[in-house]
This record gives sequence, C-alpha cells and structure tokens, in this order.
Amino acid sequence: MINPKQNIPVVAYFSMEIALDPNMPTYSGGLGMLAGDTLRSVADLAVPLVAVTLVYRRGYFRQHLDSNGQQTEQPQPWDPVHTLEAVDARAKVEIEGRTVCVRAWKYTVQGVTGGTVPVYLLDTDLPENTPADRELTNSLYGGDSHYRLCQEIVLGLGGLQILQLVGHNIQRYHMNEGHAALLALGLLERRLSQSFAGRVKQLDVDSVRSLCIFTTHTPVPAGHDEFTRELVEFVLGPERTALLDEAKVWKGDVLNMTYLALQFSGYVNGVAMRHGEVSQDMFPAYVISAITNGVHALTWAAPSFKELFDRYIPAWRTDNNYLRYAISIPLDDIREAHVRAKKRLLGEIKERMGVDLDPDVFTIGFARRASTYKRAALLFQDPERLRRIAKEVGPIQLVYGGKAHPRDEGGKKLIRDVFGGASLVRDVIRTVYVENYDMRWGALITAGVDVWLNNPMRPQEASGTSGMKSALNGVPSFSVRDGWWIEGHIEGVTGWSVGNAEDEEDHDSEVNSLYGKLASDIVPMYYKQPERYTNVMRMSIALNASFFNTQRMVQQYVSNAYMLRKDNRPSVPQLAKGEAE
Ligand SMILES: *Cc1c(COP(=O)(O)O)cnc(C)c1O
Repeated sequence: MINPKQNIPVVAYFSMEIALDPNMPTYSGGLGMLAGDTLRSVADLAVPLVAVTLVYRRGYFRQHLDSNGQQTEQPQPWDPVHTLEAVDARAKVEIEGRTVCVRAWKYTVQGVTGGTVPVYLLDTDLPENTPADRELTNSLYGGDSHYRLCQEIVLGLGGLQILQLVGHNIQRYHMNEGHAALLALGLLERRLSQSFAGRVKQLDVDSVRSLCIFTTHTPVPAGHDEFTRELVEFVLGPERTALLDEAKVWKGDVLNMTYLALQFSGYVNGVAMRHGEVSQDMFPAYVISAITNGVHALTWAAPSFKELFDRYIPAWRTDNNYLRYAISIPLDDIREAHVRAKKRLLGEIKERMGVDLDPDVFTIGFARRASTYKRAALLFQDPERLRRIAKEVGPIQLVYGGKAHPRDEGGKKLIRDVFGGASLVRDVIRTVYVENYDMRWGALITAGVDVWLNNPMRPQEASGTSGMKSALNGVPSFSVRDGWWIEGHIEGVTGWSVGNAEDEEDHDSEVNSLYGKLASDIVPMYYKQPERYTNVMRMSIALNASFFNTQRMVQQYVSNAYMLRKDNRPSVPQLAKGEAE
C-alpha cells in the first residue's frame, strides 16, 4: 500500500472524458471508464489529486436501434445545476482572438476510507460568450476538428487557469491521452513569463517535462489527434503558433497532439505491456514505459460477488490484493454468486428489451464501443458453423451491446452486421443486442454472462478493460491475445485465447480458432465438466482480478510516474536534435 508519509506530489489529472456517475453522460467508452475508475481508486488511496474534464451538457448520445440494427442518436441532456457544486472562478481563454469565459462545476469522488478527489467540469455556457462559444462544452466528440481544437483549448488552457484560480498548488500534471496536450503549452507559457523573455531554451522544455506525465492510449497512428497548421494559426493565433514552432512539436504541417504531449512529458506510458512496446516502436525517439490498466473493483463487482467477497475476504474493499485469496472460496459459492449475477442480467433484459433468455443456457457476452477494429460480428462469419455448435455441442445464447460514434459509418454497419448474423442463426440461437450500452449495462453484462468474448484486430486493443470487469465477477475471457489479455491469459486456467500467440495477424485462423475452441473446449466444459468450468471462473478472480484493478494501477502511477525524481527520469530527446520532425 501507499505509505501516506511518502510525500506524494499534488497531481492534476486531465481527461477529455470521465465516467463519474451513471447519471452523468460525460463519457463515451473505455477511455472515460478508465479515467473514472482511476479517480475512484485515487480517492480510495487518498492520493492528493484533482481532475479536470468538460461538462458536456448534451451528454454523449442516447442510442436507438431499429429492427435491422440501424442506429439513430438523440441527445441526453443533463443539468449540472442539480448535481454539482458551482465554482466561482472564471478562466479566460483566447480563441480566434476572442476571449472565451470558462466556468467550472465541482464533483467530488468519495473513496472507501474517506479520501476525496475534486473534479472540475469545465463549462463555457455563460452569457458573456457568443452563442457558438457557449456550445463548446456541450458535446463529447461532437463536432469537426475546429470544434475539437476549441474544446482542447478549453480543457488544457482553461483547466490550467481554473486550477490556479481555485488555489490548487499543483506539482504534477497527468495528461490522460493527447486531448489535454495544450496544457503543456500553457505550462511553457507560464514558465517563459517567469523567466527572461526570448526563445524557448532546453531548460524551459526540461522544466515543463519535470511536471508532466503522459499516458497514451492509441496504438494506431490514425487514432491520434491532429490539426492542420492553417487551423492552428486561425484558432490559437500567431503567437502561440510561433511558440509551437520554437518548441518543435510540428509533424510536418500538422500539429499532432501526441507529439506535443511526448515532447513535454518526463514520464510517458502505454496502458498494457504490449501497448508500451507498440508505442515505443511508433515513437522511437522517446522513452515509453507501460502501466497496465485496471478496473475499480468496488464499482464493477456485482452485488452477489460483493457479498461473497465480504464473507470470505472482507479486506478486499480497501485492499484489492486480497482478491488473490478467492482461490480458497468453495466452488459452490462461486457458482451460486454467478447464478445470481446471471439472473440479474436476464431479468433486466426481460424488463427492458422484452426478450426471454434461458438461465441454463451457455451465454456469450460481447459489449464495447462498436468500432470497426473490434470486429463485433466476427462470431457470425460462418453462421452455419455457429449453428452446428449450438445444435450438436450444446445450446448457446448471445448478449451484445455497444454504441457506434454518430459519424462512424463502419461502426454502424458492424451493428447491422450483428443483427444480420443473429437473424441467420435465429432458429437455434437467441441473440439480444441491448440498446444504449452504458455504465449500468456494462456492469450487468460483464458479470452476468458465462464467457466474455473479445476479438479485436491486433495490436489495436491498447488494453481493454471490460474483460477485467468480467474476471472480477468470475467470468472468464475468450479473447484474442492483445492488450491486457496477453498478460492475463493462461490457457484453460483463466480463460481461452482466440488464435495463438505465434500466429501472425490472420483473420481466417482467428475465425477458425474461435469456432474450434468453442466447439471442443469451452462449450463442452461448461455443460459436461461444470466443476472444472467453475474452477476457471475462480481462477479468473484469484489470478486476474487481484492484479487488473485500478488500485494496483494507481499505486504504480504514484511510484513510477508521480514520484519520479530528476535523477531517475529516463532520458528524453533534446531540443537541438529536432526530434519531432
Ligand atoms: C468497460 C466499458 C468499456 C470499455 O470496454 P472495452 O472492452 O475495454 O473496450 C466501454 N463502455 C462501457 C460502458 C464500459 O463499461
């Protein structure tokens, strides 16, 4: 555990999305979930940290699906006035030469033993601002790149000011993904205003680096935020553009937010060991470490598993390491807790979707953002083979969920493909695609199915966290070896891999393995060797939930990143080398 006598620096955590509360639609997926779980564990551990994000008065969106799986979106407005505490401070940021006024709402995350984390949700909906500027903090990932850049100014530069105005004496800045990278520009400006004016020197860059931590989440170059020079000049103005020139953060004619964050961070990490390596290869000029993601155990354990853990290992609530001793919980009790979690899910599906699923039938779960690389419809690639397994090996039913980004046509097609596939096997396999997948559904589905399926294209799943929620609830993963599963997978012990470690990325062999293992390993074990299956469930708790939690993760951030001293900081490129070219 963290020793409170260690002098942990005060950290400011910046994230474009944070899932704080099921009633606040301020997140879209895994990134926001991770941010929320991070803050919940930070509060549990009483680490001195404050967080900054945007308020998103219109939320992300409410998903509606028609009978073909065609997605339509509605806003999900909410009013911070009723839930959050108004902060008096007003920041002023310059956008296109205009002054935009920024206010903040405060939400407080409560930890298990009384620690708290203040979160500032920035808001430009003020009468001083133009109608367009008032909209800037309304929609999460809602506009074009101009809108996005404006939001990033509010987050990075507005957030920095608000923290100062409120009176927080921040000693470290943690950028959760590149969206917050303009914060580094703000810190550089602050540094320059305190020293003699003039050109940016290595000393100035080093000074900002000694303050900043950057966590990258995207293992593909196309996933990184980029803005054209023209747009940057127009929105940020000539002075700041010149400063970005001096700091050498351009990648040709574009401002790449990952490069900006890399250039100004003294500690950089990926979110799983493999993702750290992939990121290191993408950015060879920088030293990139890895801290594997986790989930907040108390948030994601189903009521029946909370009771079970309380009974056998009560200390798990304050110290997740004790989940290791789930190894000695009797199998019957694990099974009973799972039956209750499954009933709870099926009850909710019946009530909200009007579909009857059978509690005795082997249930496969798949729910996450409908993004093309996640290949939600892969299980239906060969419908005939899937039907045969269900008919000949043992009955199967399927639970899906996930929203596609409103402008992601590929993601939307994926949802239609799942509907299409499901209709082809309808005579033997019942499928339900829950509408409007969110934090509540996430908790229900990850705990209530019998196996958690994940088949992204490698190496695009930086970490993935939904499988960790499953593991915590004794639901084994059946997953492509990518992200966290490379670390959590022991074949037949904690779950199963889709494809093998040695395989090159090969769609066909993955599909083959998907059906092959269902037919010969997983479904037969479920029906014919229930004791063995329950043992895999128990192993997933003891071996994986005890490690893949945000309590362990936050402790690693504290000791590896926040407490990093000058003398043990890995070397980072120097200005003179022009590394950003
Ligand atoms: C956990 C969670 C995610 C992240 O799922 P991945 O499988 O890691 O992509 C996304 N959305 C919701 C609602 C979640 O609960």
